[in-house]
Amino acid sequence: MKIKNKKKIEFICPICGIKEKIPTDIVKMLDASDGDNVDRTIPPMFDCNNCFGKMVPILYIGVKGQVYTYNDYIKQQNN
Ligand SMILES: [Zn+2]
Repeated sequence: MKIKNKKKIEFICPICGIKEKIPTDIVKMLDASDGDNVDRTIPPMFDCNNCFGKMVPILYIGVKGQVYTYNDYIKQQNN
């Protein structure tokens, strides 16, 4: 099977600061599978391979058009 969209989204771990590029298709799959009951203010997250943290996207536009940025995520955590 050929992957049509080879774009990747850059994720960063807020705890250790490591960055990882994750294929857009995988991020969107996770995003879309979240269902309607989830909090849409929280971006799709992946477990960090380097520490116990959760990696968040530096910039990601969700399947429903919502925009997630790392800066917004950090602001939310500090509220
Ligand atoms: Zn980490």
